[in-house]
Amino acid sequence: MSYSDTIERANEFASDAIERMHKEGLAPTPENYELWYVYYAGLNPEVTRAIDILVANSQKITDIQCQELHARYLSDNRENERVRKAGSEIQATIKEVSSIVEDVKQATSEYNVTLSDVKNQLSDDMDPESIVKVVDDVLSSTQGMVAQNERLGAELKKSATVMQHLQRELDTARKEALTDGLTSLANRKSFDTEIRRIATEAVETGTDFSLVMLDIDHFKSFNDNYGHQVGDQVLRLVARALIDGVKGKDVAARYGGEEFAIILPETSLQGGLKVGDSLRKAVAGKDVINKSTGDKLGRITLSGGVAQYIPGESIEDLIGRADSALYEAKNKGRNQICGSAQPTRKRFSP
Ligand code: GH3
Ligand code: MG
Ligand code: MG
Repeated sequence: MSYSDTIERANEFASDAIERMHKEGLAPTPENYELWYVYYAGLNPEVTRAIDILVANSQKITDIQCQELHARYLSDNRENERVRKAGSEIQATIKEVSSIVEDVKQATSEYNVTLSDVKNQLSDDMDPESIVKVVDDVLSSTQGMVAQNERLGAELKKSATVMQHLQRELDTARKEALTDGLTSLANRKSFDTEIRRIATEAVETGTDFSLVMLDIDHFKSFNDNYGHQVGDQVLRLVARALIDGVKGKDVAARYGGEEFAIILPETSLQGGLKVGDSLRKAVAGKDVINKSTGDKLGRITLSGGVAQYIPGESIEDLIGRADSALYEAKNKGRNQICGSAQPTRKRFSP
């Protein structure tokens, strides 16, 4: 993000930001300062919207929330420099083409004027010399017009090639940045962005959403017995089962080494437990076959933990609760899914 406010305006935003950080009891970190400067300067509509939602929900704004907002809207943007660059090149190309189209429009209307002038000049009693001159004029205007159109055609063709190239570059960069190379699932970065987006949506729409954390059981011994390559094959097999087993708006991600996370929008704890268990069964039902030898290597199992988002809790807390439930599943003997108990809502009593 570039900052181009005048010194007076910048001073105003800076003092508003510092005052607000002080009022909210926030740590004076550069990230917090940048977030609040951006908010007061109105530089990022998403930051404004997210903070206004928190304020409207009368939530106290904490350091963790500020960190999340900064990571989501400000630092991620920096990493996406390549994508932004391609985007601005596309914009520049569109501008160039539009200006040529404008030139041609102007030339076409001048050409029309020439033609109607000629029409007015032509009469039955014109001498041959004047007719030749008029025809010459029309011819040279027409040639000018043809040349202009050819230039436009060539420029458009060139621009279309540039645009296609940039578009492909953009698509690849976007996909690569968000995909795990080994399993083709959403990667950790994509998970971090998606879970924050889905949490904001859940708060705004008042809908449930749940998180399932899954971990392969005894994966280390599998790796030790059969080698890293077979281990990688198992990771791909689990990923395949997850991709096949989730649908619609659900997001399946590789959270870490042999841990996976499924974000389930519009889903309660009960729903999350069902999805987790059906994924567990799907994986447990598959035989692992060593691709190079064809040997059956047995079955693998998953343990899982599910937590339903409590509006207002931090994403770290939600992940922590799903992780504790996963830990419980491991302790209870693995190959099972446990849920994190949902706090009961306080009832209003007069
Ligand atoms: P538990 O049932 O308690 O989860 O036991 P575990 O052996 O699965 O857990 P642990 O955390 O001890 O081991 C995880 C292993 O996962 C360690 C490492 O060898 C393996 N691993 C992590 N990432 C990769 C990867 O990308 N490829 C392969 N092949 N193995 C990986
Ligand atoms: Mg693990
Ligand atoms: Mg494990």
